[in-house]
Amino acid sequence: MATIAFNNICKSFGENQVVRDFNLTIEDGEFVVLVGPSGCGKTTSLRMLAGLEAPTSGRIALNNVDITDVPSKARELAMVFQSYALYPHMSVADNIGFALSLQKRPAQAIRAEVLAAAKRLEIDHLLARKPRELSGGQRQRVAVARAIVRQPQAFLFDEPLSNLDAKLRHSARVEIRKLQQQLGTTALYVTHDQIEAMTMADRIVVMEGGCIRQVGTPMELYMHPNSVFVASFLGAPPTNCIAGEVVHAAGSVQFCSDSLNLALHPETPRGPATLGIRPESLQPGEGMAAHLQLQGAVRFVEALGAETLVDLSIARQSGAPHQAPPTELTARLPGHHCLTSGDILPFHVARQDLRLFGSDGNVLADAIKTPDHAADEQMGDGGGLQRAVAEYV
Ligand code: ATP
Repeated sequence: MATIAFNNICKSFGENQVVRDFNLTIEDGEFVVLVGPSGCGKTTSLRMLAGLEAPTSGRIALNNVDITDVPSKARELAMVFQSYALYPHMSVADNIGFALSLQKRPAQAIRAEVLAAAKRLEIDHLLARKPRELSGGQRQRVAVARAIVRQPQAFLFDEPLSNLDAKLRHSARVEIRKLQQQLGTTALYVTHDQIEAMTMADRIVVMEGGCIRQVGTPMELYMHPNSVFVASFLGAPPTNCIAGEVVHAAGSVQFCSDSLNLALHPETPRGPATLGIRPESLQPGEGMAAHLQLQGAVRFVEALGAETLVDLSIARQSGAPHQAPPTELTARLPGHHCLTSGDILPFHVARQDLRLFGSDGNVLADAIKTPDHAADEQMGDGGGLQRAVAEYV
C-alpha cells in the first residue's frame, strides 16, 4: 500500500535538462500511466522513483517519507523492465525467487511463494526452463511474477509490452491491469502507446519535452484536452487539426480557415488558431443550424468491420488562396458504409465536440461557447449520428 509524490523534480544530464518541474501525486492503489513521445523523459522519471537515477533537484516521497536519498534496493519497489532483465543462466523459478533468496528467506518459503506467483501468471509448468527457452510473452510473465513475489509497495513498469506482438499486447495489458487490481498495489507504468494508456490507466500523465502537459482520467483527457499536443496524441486516428485564424470583423468574432468559418465567443482573442475535431465527431448529414456544416469529398475508405474510416477532402471556400491545399479530415463512422472515392457528403459537428486552440497550442476553453448556441448544447446530440447515417448511407 503506497502513495507516491514527486515534488518539483528536475533532471539534467550535463547541459541537457530532460525532466522539468515534475509534480505528481499517485494515490494508494492507483494505476498511473506516463505517456508521451520518445525522449520526453518518461523512463527517466520512473528511474528516479526506482532510485536508479538521482534527481538534479526536487524530492520524492513514498508514503509521505522522503526517499530521495534512499538507495534503490531499500525502496521496496519492484520494476518490470522493457527487456525483462532476466538472468539467462538461472531457471525461471530462480529468476522469480531471486529477490527472496537475497533476503535470505527459507528455501521452502521461497519455493511456495514462487509457485503461487507462477500459478497466478499461468507459468507454473515452465519453472525449470531457462529464459532462452521461453517465448516473449512467457518472459514478460516471468518478469511480472518476479515483481509480485516481492510484495512491493508499488510496481514500476517500463514499457513491459513493447516486445510483444499486437494480439499478445492486448491480452497482456488486460492481465497486468487485472493483477494490479486484485493485489491493490500502486503502479506507475511508462509507455509511448496511447492505447495502452487509455485502456489501462486510472489516470494518465501526458509528457512532452520533459514537462507534464496534462493529468487526468483517460476520458477527461480525451474529451477535454488542454492543448493541441494532447488532443493529437490521444486517439487513433488522431484529432483532425484545422489551421486558421480568429478574426474580429464587422461586430463578429469568427474562426476562419480555407474551408470553413465558425462563430466564436466575442471575447476570443484574435490570432492564429487551430480547430480540433475528433474523427467520430464528424457525423454525416446536415445536422442542426447551430452545428458546424461541411461538404466532404470522399478520398479513401477503410472498412474495419465494426467501423469505417473515411478520409475526406473539404472544399476551399471562395476567396481562399488557390495554392492552399484542401483540408483533409478523417471521419470514423460506426458500422459498414458503402462509400466510394469521389462521393460528396454533407457532414456536421456539434459545437460541444469542437475544440479551439490558440497560437500557443493551449485550449481556448470558452471560444466555442456562444450565447446563441447554449440551448443547442444543452439539447446534446442524442441519436443524431444514427439518424444521419440512416439518411445518407
Ligand atoms: P522512450 O520512449 O524512447 O524510452 P522516454 O520518454 O522514456 O523515451 P527518456 O529515456 O527518459 O525518454 O530520455 C529522456 C532524454 O534523456 C532523452 O533525450 C535521452 O537521450 C536522455 N537520456 C536518458 N538517459 C540518459 C543518460 N544516462 N545520459 C544522457 N542522456 C540521457
